Amino acid sequence: MNEIATFCQSFKKDFTPRAQDARQPVRCWSEKDVLDGKVVDAYVIILRTRGCSWALASGCTMCGYFNDSMFAPVSENDFQSQFEKAMQSYKGEKIVKLFTSGSYLDPHEIPVPVQHEILSVLTERAEKISVESRPEYVTEKRLAAIHKIVSSKEFEIGIGLETSNDLVREKAINKGFTFNDYKKAVKLLKKHQMNVKTYVLMKPPFLTEKESLNDCIRTAQDIAPYTDIISLNPTNVQRHTVVEYLWKRNQYRPPWLWSIVEFLKQSKSVTDAFVKCDAVGGGSMRGAHNCGVCDRKVLNAIEEFSLSQKQDALNNLTCDCKEKWLDQLDLENLSFGSFVDFARWKP
Ligand code: SF4
Ligand SMILES: [Zn+2]
Repeated sequence: MNEIATFCQSFKKDFTPRAQDARQPVRCWSEKDVLDGKVVDAYVIILRTRGCSWALASGCTMCGYFNDSMFAPVSENDFQSQFEKAMQSYKGEKIVKLFTSGSYLDPHEIPVPVQHEILSVLTERAEKISVESRPEYVTEKRLAAIHKIVSSKEFEIGIGLETSNDLVREKAINKGFTFNDYKKAVKLLKKHQMNVKTYVLMKPPFLTEKESLNDCIRTAQDIAPYTDIISLNPTNVQRHTVVEYLWKRNQYRPPWLWSIVEFLKQSKSVTDAFVKCDAVGGGSMRGAHNCGVCDRKVLNAIEEFSLSQKQDALNNLTCDCKEKWLDQLDLENLSFGSFVDFARWKP
């Protein structure tokens, strides 16, 4: 195991899982999304599992999803109870996003009969179902079985590729798979008429703001032939992660909202994919943020663009802090380490 993988693993070794109720989902909520060009309601369910297998082995540098995991197998009965509870608040939203903070297709997380049972219930009720998986679980056998269940509806698998650069994915993210693995999974998904959503990570640790912005734009270009949707994930500082370790030592700053705006503007000239961004924790010190004065305005514009794809939403955004962001893009590569926003820092 290399050093960054060992470091990622050390956070799990020292971690005592919180007492969690295996019969309750992590969270469920309703949000807006787009289906066939129209804004519709989407219902998000996060099932509680034993945890992402990759996270249990070492995990990604920015991922703290394991904080909500059981670290022990969850029984079929418990999954049934979680799903029933989740569906009590379902109001007929057209899209259902079924997440596990890991891989829905990983049989060690969710037993295959449970995966299929849940999908068949949702196929009866929703127009589109979206799940997530690492590429190694996307196999011919699994997709053929799922295709039989969901073929009457739109079905999407989200893959956290993060970047098309194998070096960045290995050394800065510790993701544990290659761009080629992603391409192979996409080929299988297309064969089974399934849609592909690709997550792109903005600002992994060890990259400057400018390096990360350029990496995201390059990635959007590289994955244009493979993906239907690009979902930009700005890094937020999650607990018990390498990112949090660096952030606490003033060696990491989450991305500026200006970088997200710039990415969204430029992405349309390199890809035809639907491009969106969900800035989790946006505006806070742990999430993507600007100066604090303009954050809400810029976040609203990002949200509007993510639903409409209209560049107009991003034009005419101004604030004094934009100059600081531009300075950082120019200067940070000359400095040692990542710039920290001391202006907003309250220890
Ligand atoms: S980012 Fe995805 S693959 Fe990486 S540890 Fe988290 S859940 Fe697992
Ligand atoms: Zn500002």
